Amino acid sequence: MSEVPVLDHWVGGTAWQGASDRVAPVFDPARGVVQRHVRLASTSDVDAAVSTAMAAAAAWRDASLAKRQTVMFAFREILNARRDELARILTSEHGKVLADAHGEIARGLEVVEFACGAPHLLKGEYSENVSTGIDVYTLHQPLGVVGVISPFNFPAMVPLWFVPIALMSGNAVILKPSEKDPSAANWIAERFAEAGLPAGVLSVVHGDKEAVDAILDHPDIAAVSFVGSTPIATYIYERASSAGKRVQALGGAKNHMLVLPDADLDLAADSAVNAGFGSAGERCMAISVVLAVDSIADALVSKIAERMSTLRTGDGLRGCDMGPLITEVHRDKVAAYIGIAREDGATVVIDGTGIEVDGEPAGFWLGPTLLDDVSTGSAAYRDEIFGPVLSVVRVAGYDDALALINASPYGNGTAIFTNDGGAARRFQREVTVGMVGINVPIPVPVAYHSFGGWKASLFGDAKAYGPQAFAFFTREKAVTSRWLDPSHGGLNLGFPQNT
Ligand code: NAD
Repeated sequence: MSEVPVLDHWVGGTAWQGASDRVAPVFDPARGVVQRHVRLASTSDVDAAVSTAMAAAAAWRDASLAKRQTVMFAFREILNARRDELARILTSEHGKVLADAHGEIARGLEVVEFACGAPHLLKGEYSENVSTGIDVYTLHQPLGVVGVISPFNFPAMVPLWFVPIALMSGNAVILKPSEKDPSAANWIAERFAEAGLPAGVLSVVHGDKEAVDAILDHPDIAAVSFVGSTPIATYIYERASSAGKRVQALGGAKNHMLVLPDADLDLAADSAVNAGFGSAGERCMAISVVLAVDSIADALVSKIAERMSTLRTGDGLRGCDMGPLITEVHRDKVAAYIGIAREDGATVVIDGTGIEVDGEPAGFWLGPTLLDDVSTGSAAYRDEIFGPVLSVVRVAGYDDALALINASPYGNGTAIFTNDGGAARRFQREVTVGMVGINVPIPVPVAYHSFGGWKASLFGDAKAYGPQAFAFFTREKAVTSRWLDPSHGGLNLGFPQNT
């Protein structure tokens, strides 16, 4: 089939080839070479994985909370002890620098630790004597088999947003990671097996649209958690909902950072650079637009540019600040926005094309790029670029900035930089965005608050992790019970009333 290794699916507690002979290349983005292939499941491969998961789910739903907790604690210990290994996998397939890969793992680990406390969050409610001799209480029961479809930019963290909570809720999971950097998912599934998770409870099925569609349509998959771009999130939400599933589909973003004249400009410049170029801008919470109030715009742009000139782009294993982009195609698409912005009147303050890198020349490189005076009519402003291109848009003041943010079809993250508590308070109240930072550029909530945007950044009612995740991954059942008492009795065909 090929000279490079082929990554199999993970089904029934073991590597599994499936029947399809389709594969996709997985690149090493810092070298620009294919390092392995990954299998692409057919519909019948997905069907087989779901049958295995259904059988495993029947037993796992009866595993006690204590048993589930034992597995999750053990997984937490293994993940924590072997995080270096996972970080290297992330860097080699995604390209993000090692320090950033460690950050991603730390945020995933946070959700694992939160999931260990699931028994507390799965507790039902109990009302005694709601009518004479009758009690009412609620149970939170698993859904069965759930699907998780994840994007390339967080190959470990995004699966860990969902898988631990779905498992602790008593479900079996079919995880379909991005085919661009699929190895982390297998690594996670193998570590769960070592932690004692019964075979079949967590499966990894690799694939593209065919596998995704098979998950969306499968009658035995009860719910789908998706993270990816907005066009695909829209599609997933519509198709899986019409198949009767519970769906949460987290989409793309265009995150604005507003800098008011009274802000600490050094903090704002540090934050814009960290949040704009970390992970080469391939983060759904990256800052891609700085809204600078006119009076401080020149000073802010020069502080940002000064900091950018110190960034080292190159191989993530060599201690650089910023790695390559995920594929050549994506790199070229991102780079094209620099020309688009220029044609639309922007000033290219720093152009990342042709940058000298600390890495192999064939890597998918694009250096940090700064655009000033970007027109809000330009595609460079409107589109999610998803790369190391930071745009500055100059605004007259707070009201203009707020209007721009609220007019965006996306509503994932935003930040305000100011020393005026009143302005910050007004902003948090008025902005139509799901996650807000006040002097904090990447406001990703901790694991015990839920994560998710508004508008075209999240389709469905439930956010990821936090308390909302337990509601998403369980069905609530209300039980009304009466134990025999001598006072019962008598026929009454009327609708039950509490007495
Ligand atoms: P993507 O939408 O291309 O892919 C996401 C998943 O969908 C992958 O598993 C992929 O195999 C699958 N997929 C792709 N095309 C498909 C199709 N036509 N039909 C069915 N399935 C398909 O996204 P990506 O490029 O992997 O990830 C980057 C995107 O994800 C960005 O838009 C980013 O903002 C978004 N993202 C959002 C969040 C969030 O929390 N809102 C988090 C991370 C990433």
